[in-house]
Amino acid sequence: MEAPSSKKLCCTVCVHTVKSIPVIFILCILAWSYYAYVYHLCLSRVTSVELSVPYLLVYHIILVLFLWSYFKTIFTEPSGAPPNCLFILLQFRLPEEVFEEFNRNPIDLSRQSAILRDFAENLPIMTFTNTNEHFFSDIRFCDKCKIVKPDRSHHCSVCRKCVLKMDHHCPWVNNCVSYSNYKYFILFLAYGLLMCIFVAATTIEYVIKFWDITTDMRIQDGSYKIHIIFLFFIASMFSLSLFSLLAYHIYLVSKNRTTLESFRPPKFLEGSDKNGFNLGCCRNIREVFGKEVLLWPFPIDTRLGDGVIYPLASDLKSNDSVRQSSNKSRTPFTV
Ligand SMILES: [Zn+2]
Ligand SMILES: [Zn+2]
Repeated sequence: MEAPSSKKLCCTVCVHTVKSIPVIFILCILAWSYYAYVYHLCLSRVTSVELSVPYLLVYHIILVLFLWSYFKTIFTEPSGAPPNCLFILLQFRLPEEVFEEFNRNPIDLSRQSAILRDFAENLPIMTFTNTNEHFFSDIRFCDKCKIVKPDRSHHCSVCRKCVLKMDHHCPWVNNCVSYSNYKYFILFLAYGLLMCIFVAATTIEYVIKFWDITTDMRIQDGSYKIHIIFLFFIASMFSLSLFSLLAYHIYLVSKNRTTLESFRPPKFLEGSDKNGFNLGCCRNIREVFGKEVLLWPFPIDTRLGDGVIYPLASDLKSNDSVRQSSNKSRTPFTV
């Protein structure tokens, strides 16, 4: 009889494989488009070296940046704070004895609420549960991870953990898009769009020629025709979807809002405010991309902060000293 542990392992492998299908699909499309573009277009169809060399050069530069961003988005740990800030997250975890007391039978909602409020008293949190989100307390708490949720974090049921500044779980990268990889995700969309536009722009001339009976394109060269026509249509189709997704995320970055926050605004002491983290367009962009503009186009870690404490729009107002003094442990980074 098969041991339960091997069944569990088999099950885990199956789940991982199924979750990886969209990534495998994208990589297959990419591998085929590479063959179609490099072999069928640049090496076979484009006879002029003055054209094929720049085509190949630009294509490969965009491809490297695209793959670099894509793999960084896929393989960056979603819940991760920067290594030098990991200790901050430890403060949010309920010690085992506190969690046991919290879960002690019979369940008493007022006791649970008191334990959470007591534990969270000195934590740097400024957001609370929306109405009816949690039945026993307004402190945002995850009983699966046993932590008080830092501002802007959410529990991802696919990743099975709480994720800092969670935007959404993206099946196309098989990962959460969050504080740790948001810049990489936006670059992935941007380079994907750039590559599709470049491929569509350089193949359109040949696609038009295929329909023109006055040209000398011979009818027996059928296979490359199919590759180039498909290449053009797939690049055009992906351009449209990538453009809309990229435009939406650029809008969210400019407003310092996650996808989840755009559907459900974070709730502060004063009430829900979708612009609670909006520091102005330039500061918002620097929060994601960093202060060094020359590093913005590269998928390297330039994000600001620790993923736990965020400056608030109201922090910018010089007369708002009440909020700052109400929480001594909270020192947001400067943008
Ligand atoms: Zn959680
Ligand atoms: Zn996730």
